[in-house]
Amino acid sequence: MTIFEALKLSRAKLAGAGIESASLDASLILSYLTDLTKVQLITHDTDELSDETVNHLNELIEKRISGYPIAYILGYKEFWGLKLKVTEDTLIPRPDTEIIVQKALDCKVHGPILDMGTGTGAIILALKSEYGDAVEAYACDISKKALNVARENARTHSLDVTFIESDWFSALGDKKFSLIVSNPPYIEENDPHLTKTSLPYEPISALTSGSDGLDDIRIICADALSHLESGAPLLIEHGYNQGKSVATIFTENGYKNVETIKDLAGNDRVTIGFLI
Ligand code: GLN
Repeated sequence: MTIFEALKLSRAKLAGAGIESASLDASLILSYLTDLTKVQLITHDTDELSDETVNHLNELIEKRISGYPIAYILGYKEFWGLKLKVTEDTLIPRPDTEIIVQKALDCKVHGPILDMGTGTGAIILALKSEYGDAVEAYACDISKKALNVARENARTHSLDVTFIESDWFSALGDKKFSLIVSNPPYIEENDPHLTKTSLPYEPISALTSGSDGLDDIRIICADALSHLESGAPLLIEHGYNQGKSVATIFTENGYKNVETIKDLAGNDRVTIGFLI
């Protein structure tokens, strides 16, 4: 089978199964298997594929059709212009999360910054790539496996971040930060989306948090009070329908200038408050 035929067949199979990104996914999977760029796939489209590659291709197309995320097939996802390794132990970084990075950069801080529940390291690596030497970067996660992925991503991009294994603030002693940021689990336990899209394949501990999805946000808001320098901001990502509840949690904990920010789709996505 030639590359041209393989692309055509894979595209048709994916589209037939209702995968919206059929064309893109077909070329991404074929690029991954052949080590050719998307452009090279076109310029080499009469090259023959080995039987082994065709079998592997069919396997991956079937996997994709079953809903398995393309990022897990390829083993990476782009976030904030950084190519990040992802595994089944980490949440796949979402474009919506770039809004919390933007807001954290707007804060223009100078002291140590902390990302809680870092997963692939997406947020802290994006921040460190922009802030550079102006800040010391720290990130924690309860998952050793996620931290290994995050450490590898930091090495790949030569970004200096201290990673700490910690259940929220438990291993952080009395260290204080100039900014704390988090994209914690926030989906309601019985949310029907958990059985759809890519979510069934992602780590459940990175997705849900109690019946209203806010258990971890309550912990972070309360415990961050003793880890923020005076005047420092806390920024938390949350669900599109949680803006009011999260702002209330911030205000009840005494944060000031609490504000909820929308993502690019116009949904409430991030709440920020300051310890004053
Ligand atoms: N934004 C993700 C989603 O809704 C969830 C991420 C999270 O729980 N932090 O698919």
